Amino acid sequence: MKKLVKLEKPKDIFIDTEIKDFKDPQFIYLPCECNYKEGEYLYKNTFINDIVTSISGYVVKTEKLKCQNSITKCYKIANDYKENIKEKIQKKKCKNKDDLINYLEKFNLNNIITKISNKESIQNIVFSCIDEETYSFSEFMTLSNYFNEILETLNYLLNVFSLSKGIIATKNTFSSSIKNVKSILGTYPNILLRLIPDLYLISYEENLCDYLNILSKDTLILNGQEILDLYYALIKGKINNSVLLTISGNNVLKTMIVMTRTNTLAKEVIDKYIELKSNDYDIYINGLLRGYKENNECLITKDIHTIIINEKKTTIEEECINCGACQEICPFHINVLKCYLEKRSSKKCFNCGLCNYICPANIKLKEVVGMVNNEKKKH
Ligand code: SF4
Ligand code: SF4
Repeated sequence: MKKLVKLEKPKDIFIDTEIKDFKDPQFIYLPCECNYKEGEYLYKNTFINDIVTSISGYVVKTEKLKCQNSITKCYKIANDYKENIKEKIQKKKCKNKDDLINYLEKFNLNNIITKISNKESIQNIVFSCIDEETYSFSEFMTLSNYFNEILETLNYLLNVFSLSKGIIATKNTFSSSIKNVKSILGTYPNILLRLIPDLYLISYEENLCDYLNILSKDTLILNGQEILDLYYALIKGKINNSVLLTISGNNVLKTMIVMTRTNTLAKEVIDKYIELKSNDYDIYINGLLRGYKENNECLITKDIHTIIINEKKTTIEEECINCGACQEICPFHINVLKCYLEKRSSKKCFNCGLCNYICPANIKLKEVVGMVNNEKKKH
């Protein structure tokens, strides 16, 4: 494991620790690849490609949203607040891996199915409750607010894979805040809590497994969103239509944690809960290092855990001083400067953003070196 770095934390963050439950968005938006007509009725939990509708209501019109620098035509669905579901899913007890995969297909949990299917054998299950990016608290809030649900779900999975031990990994900086959950943990002697150092990229699969002294090839690592999705599917027999979102940044008066429905417009959530310091701001999705710049017209999907609203900042790129810091810091041993000068991306790039973070000349190296993976992310 390459020596990992500790990130400088922003000061003066005020967090509202009460999770706001935004169950009733006025509208949700569905990308228009699907064939609906205005006035058509959509039940909640309708599967449309890899999307599941999170409300029931009528298609009111199509609208163009500007997300990830491109225009996406979307159906705007007006919430009828009835939560009408066409057909309930029959809850089933899964006894083994194949059973589990078949059952999870009913919930459209394709990312989790892929993770499970890609492992030839699963010998360890780890809930990685680690927020690495500054301003991100979604994993920690999942751990501190849904501890019983996490334990129940992990215990269920341990039975499916006939394992005797599961792990919850969280940052050692959280140890004082999780004192109250340790007593509950005692009722699950098969689940261990491991405190790990607060270092950037420690939750990257290979780093985490190295640190926990287990093999990554037979370890299933789940994050907070996945654990909650599994809790709803396995324990309740329901589809989880919500996303736990941190909204933070140096342009917000208070960091808020909001449980919101999928495919809600970020703007609707921001307008409802966030007090801004100034109206001149930039929005970043999922962090300043690994994330990307966006606007408030983006849709909240299950892969979004953080929205950062920062004061607008203009940084001027200067000339490279050949200090070598970008190459020194790259955890994937990429010759970053060479790639940048040759305007060439690297398949090895993890888009971690450390090269941008360290560069004294403010050169946006990641945008060139990580381009291949950025493109993948968009599709
Ligand atoms: S963004 Fe890519 S090139 Fe830059 S440090 Fe991270 S892995 Fe290396
Ligand atoms: S960190 Fe920036 S200034 Fe230093 S070598 Fe890399 S590109 Fe040049």
